Amino acid sequence: MAVLRVRLALWRSGGRRDACPALGWCAGVVLCGLLATNGFCAADIRGTIAESVTRELASLEQFYRELHANPELSFHEEKTAGRVAAELKKLGAEVATNVGGQGLVAVLRNGEGPVVLVRTDLDALPVREETGLAYASRARTTNDAGVEVHLMHACGHDIHMTSLVGTARMMAGHKDQWGGTIVFIGQPAEERGAGARAMLADGLFTRFPKPSRCLALHVSADMAAGSVGVVEGYILANVDSVDVTIRGSGGHGAWPHKTRDPIVLAAQTVMALQTIVSREKDPLDSAVVTVGSIHGGTKHNIIPDEVKLQITVRSFSDEVRTQTLDAIRRIARGQAIAAGMPEDRMPIVKIDDREFTPACYNNPELARSVRETFARWFGAGNVITRRPSMGGEDFSEFGRTADKIPICMFWLGSVAPEQVAESERTGKPMPSLHSSLFKPLPEPTIRTGVTAMTAALLELLRHPI
Ligand SMILES: [Zn+2]
Ligand SMILES: [Zn+2]
Repeated sequence: MAVLRVRLALWRSGGRRDACPALGWCAGVVLCGLLATNGFCAADIRGTIAESVTRELASLEQFYRELHANPELSFHEEKTAGRVAAELKKLGAEVATNVGGQGLVAVLRNGEGPVVLVRTDLDALPVREETGLAYASRARTTNDAGVEVHLMHACGHDIHMTSLVGTARMMAGHKDQWGGTIVFIGQPAEERGAGARAMLADGLFTRFPKPSRCLALHVSADMAAGSVGVVEGYILANVDSVDVTIRGSGGHGAWPHKTRDPIVLAAQTVMALQTIVSREKDPLDSAVVTVGSIHGGTKHNIIPDEVKLQITVRSFSDEVRTQTLDAIRRIARGQAIAAGMPEDRMPIVKIDDREFTPACYNNPELARSVRETFARWFGAGNVITRRPSMGGEDFSEFGRTADKIPICMFWLGSVAPEQVAESERTGKPMPSLHSSLFKPLPEPTIRTGVTAMTAALLELLRHPI
């Protein structure tokens, strides 16, 4: 009983790790000898997990190569979900499939304690792999529009799945180290920004234990394998896709005075849109307005009736998002009025909320605690404080329900360290995420991914049993 009280006090104070800052782990090591029965010492558990990860590594790498060679498109991740589900079933988790499309939920119970969710995504991209790796994808499929496309895990979701399976093996194999429930989820259609919403709509937080924290990792294409990166607050941006149809009144190219030229109007509109970021928005806020596609006309001497623009809009706060989208509507209309378009030929601006990916906001307190945990496990030199990025990720959705659950996504370095050094030396950028040349280094990346997620879970779920 006395020992239990000591353990309890150590747990509550966090003293099992930090009681002896001057002497590092010395006090912890002594305590380990006294309290080793349930592995209470952090140094002890780090060694135990490191050995277990090493034992699992060959099998995890094999699993990774299979996933990498067999990518599937968003909302068509049937075989991928099946592979992940089979691995989690072997560990004694209760597995449900087809949650929000091809989503899977695997609940690993271990007595009293908090509920924590760990998420991987499942889908790949329509990219033709050019890495030249022995296990490179040669897969092809027909997309929803009926077009044949090549497929590649160019966003590292295969690393995420492998890390999740490895983490599940760690937690299932060391149940004496923690208490509570882990909800492992495989989320479909991240690349479409729709899978998280689909799983929530299908009862993720009502049919299964509701988490008090959600964790995820994402590979980074510019951080060395073996390192991890943490951001407090916004890590990724609001993503909106805007379609604008600029309408005119077409005719012969030789008689422009008898037309209303939508091509000239489109050009003016594209230029005017640049002033939203440069002139309208507070310089201390961030936003991007990129016109990624412009299509109109068929021939040299015909003025067309319309031009279509596709715009990606990025922001962090809800306020800047609203301001930016309102400005696009206003400028498109204002330019059309200036060009003399009649009311019935005003531009059509479509902003589809179903395609909106909200900004990913890492709960600062949770992110801080994750970073401190990583510093203890990997050494402060391997934990990088990252800046927010204008990319998007629908993991954000899990923190935006009425429950406002604290979430944290962290970056996982995946590039050969010498490649990072070479890029820094020459200034030549490395292949980014979504590149046909993106080539994460499996061994140190998977080892670090499994260890990092296991460490974060143990931090949230360890308690005196
Ligand atoms: Zn991606
Ligand atoms: Zn991704």
